[in-house]
Formats: sequence, C-alpha cells, structure tokens
Amino acid sequence: MLLTIGLEIHIKLKSANKMFCQCKNEQNFDALLPNTNICPVCTGQPGALPTLSEEVLQQALLLGKALNCKINEFSQFDRKSYFYPDLPMGYQITQLYHPTNTQGSVSFFLDNYTNEKTIHIQDAHMENDTAKMIHDWGQALIDFNRAGTPLVEIVTMPDFKTTEEVVEFLKELQRIVRFNNISDADMEKGQMRVDVNISLRKSEKDPFGTRAEIKNINSFGMIKRAIEHEQARQEALYEKWETFAQQTRGRDDAKGESYLMRSKEDALDYRYFPEPDMPQLRLSDETLQRLNDQVMSIPHNIIKRFKEEYGFNKEYINALISDKAVLDYFISVVSHCEKWNDEAILWKLVAKRIAWPIAAWMKENFKTINELPFNQTPLTEFFRAAQAGNLIENQLKIIMDEMLKTGKNPQDIIKEKWFDAPAVDNNELEGMAKQILEDNASIVEQYKWGKVTVIWFFIGQLMKKSAGKVNPKIAQEIFEKLLK
Ligand SMILES: [Zn+2]
Repeated sequence: MLLTIGLEIHIKLKSANKMFCQCKNEQNFDALLPNTNICPVCTGQPGALPTLSEEVLQQALLLGKALNCKINEFSQFDRKSYFYPDLPMGYQITQLYHPTNTQGSVSFFLDNYTNEKTIHIQDAHMENDTAKMIHDWGQALIDFNRAGTPLVEIVTMPDFKTTEEVVEFLKELQRIVRFNNISDADMEKGQMRVDVNISLRKSEKDPFGTRAEIKNINSFGMIKRAIEHEQARQEALYEKWETFAQQTRGRDDAKGESYLMRSKEDALDYRYFPEPDMPQLRLSDETLQRLNDQVMSIPHNIIKRFKEEYGFNKEYINALISDKAVLDYFISVVSHCEKWNDEAILWKLVAKRIAWPIAAWMKENFKTINELPFNQTPLTEFFRAAQAGNLIENQLKIIMDEMLKTGKNPQDIIKEKWFDAPAVDNNELEGMAKQILEDNASIVEQYKWGKVTVIWFFIGQLMKKSAGKVNPKIAQEIFEKLLK
C-alpha cells in the first residue's frame, strides 16, 4: 500500500524576550532554576494582557519568507481553549483562521543530492509554548520558565511518500532556521518538535486513508522508527479487514511501540475563536519592505550551486553544509583567495581540504572550525602555494597535516622539508632510482620472483631521497622500466 505522510513541526524561535511579555526567552532551560523566569503575563494572572514582541514577529516573518510563504498583510491570533496544568491561562494564543504565513513550499535533495523534491506548506503560524510538567518523586511539578516562549508551527501538506523524504526535508528545515539565525532547532532540547500524520491507501486514485498522528518524537532516528512501525501497524489492520478511527498516538521509543492517546470520538473541542486580547495584526509597509530587502540563506540553493556550478561531490557538500560556521569559514577563505585564482578550481581546492583533513581534525579533537591551530592568513598562503603548481599532492598533504598538528606557517614547513629545493629532472631521478635498486638487491630479487608489490617500497625510497619532489606515478614508471 502507498504511504502518505504530513508533518506538523514546532520551531522554537530565537529572540531576546518571550512572545507576549518581557521575560527572557531562555534557550537552555537546564541552566535555569524552575519558575525564576516568569511574570503575571506568562503565568496567566487575571487581568494581565499580552503584547506581541516585535522581534518574535520579525523572526516568524523571516521563517515565512525562508519557506516561500505568502506573507499576509492582515492576520489574526486565535484562542485555543483546553484545560491542562501546564497551560496557566486555560488557553493557548495561536493562529488558526488567518495565519500570518500561508501557502509556502520547500525544495530539498534526496539520494545524496541526485534527486530533488518540493513539498508544500499549508501555513507557518505563531503560537506560545506551554509550561513544562515534571513527574518526579511521585508528584507532578510545573516549571513556568517555558510558558509563553515563542513558537512557529509549520503545517505541511500530505506530500511525503517515504521516510527518507521526511528526514531529508527536516534536515533542510533545520539548516534553514540555523543558517538564518531563526532557531537552534536542537531536537533533543525540544527546539524542534515533530508530529507525524500517517495514512495508507491502495493507489494514487483512492482518497486518503484514515490517519494516525504520532506525537512525542525527538530525534531523526525516532522519526524513522515511528513511521516504519505505524506503517506496519496499519498494514496489519487492513490485511485483517479491520478499520480504525482517526487517532492520536504517543511514541514509546524504548519499547519500540506506540500507544493510543485519543481517538476522533474523544478529540478535544478547542472552541477556537479570535483572541479578544490581541488586535488584528496589520503589517506596516515599512515592515514588509524590510522583509523584502532581507537576503535569506537558503541551503538548498547553496547545495545546488555547489553541485551544478562547482561540481562538488557529496563528501564536499556534506562537509560544507552540516554546520553554518564551516560554510561561513569556507566562503571567507575563498573570498580572500579569489583575486588570484580561477574560481571553480579554487573552490574545489578549498572544499577538498575542508572535507577531509580539516573535518577529520575537528572530529578527532572535538573542536569547531573557529578553533583551528592557525588563522585564515596561513591557510590562504597554503592555497596560494597549492595554486602555484610547484608542489605535488603528496607534499601538500604533508604540509596540511603539519599545519594541523603544529599550527606552523606553510612557508616554514616548505623550507623545513626542503620542498622548495630545485626540481630534479628525470635523469637525476633515474640515477637515484638505480642507486636504490643497487642498495636493495635482495628486494629486487623478490620482485623478479613475482612479488611486484615491493615496487611501492622503491617508490617510497625515491620520494624520501628526492625530498618528495617526485610524483609517485612517474616514480612507478621509472622503476618499472629499470626492473624490466
Ligand atoms: Zn513573562
């Protein structure tokens, strides 16, 4: 059967203050004592009135723009009423009937950047977060630090057909909000929370099947497991000719299963109506103009450019887009080199070093790209040396390894290792090679008996003797000729 998936994603916005009050919008609740970051507004005291933060609105609009949404000049907040201890006002302020951002779309790559897909966004609406319930010592405790912090809920159309599409879309979304400083979107910290709607149908022509919504998902691995499990659960039901009501399920990842939270029959009646404490939201011409002038960093477009204009492979792309700091560093290095190089060659040259030795160094040492043992000037010098064409790949590798190990300047390493010694010509190399063969007669004997791999020993000797001045391929040719 065909799988159909739609997503609802809550993104915690980065802003100085909470959505409707002056309390700090803390991103790391673990660093805070419970109930220390609260006021009459976010704890729902009678008579306290909400005032929308200008910065929260800006962040929500930026997200709408990044998602290619229609930004509505007129929009409105709605009151969603339900009773739960973590909801001090007895209702949440959200946007149901006239959200600010509607009808968007997001494109992203699949299958290691070979295929593309676009999914549609129904809306991306603002709402305030609830407090946090903590169940401990046989008690239910409430921490209001989170209450009233700003969220945008992104509702997608049911455009996803595979788990991979869901995961790749969410990765792109995470990059979008991080690259534009809208949210840190750390799933483990609850800054990006995903609900997945899943249904099955026999063919594209059939109407959508009954759907189940899976909640409490907080990692990419869990999303994958939750979808696979729910698909199997529904398939088993259809096989038995059983039907089920539209329902909301919680995911218990430790047990590898989901449980029924509520079905359509006992769905909550939220009694939505326009929020009377908030005026209708009208965006000024100035706000719209400022938004229009804002340049967004869209990871999909960056990847497309890397792939199509510069011919980067998936390793280069992965290394450059997994972290905004790495991408910024890369752009900064190439822009400092630009004056003296062919752009595409230079970009590849820099991407290659970042994808391999630098990325590996960061991983091994648990460091970020801004903690490299050298600053950008020696690195630019390294690429200048690489570009000049006097050094072979093997020498460049040695220089970069040494730079990462010691933080030394490339010019000093070149001098130390005699890499700037005058080039040796082929006659001279052949002389050296003959000497090596004479000195290692027993190994030559092994070669003649068929152990041809010992040629690498000779090549290594010649590299050493010529201070790395020989291309291994040329060295191989010389030895093959001499050993015939
Ligand atoms: Zn407050």
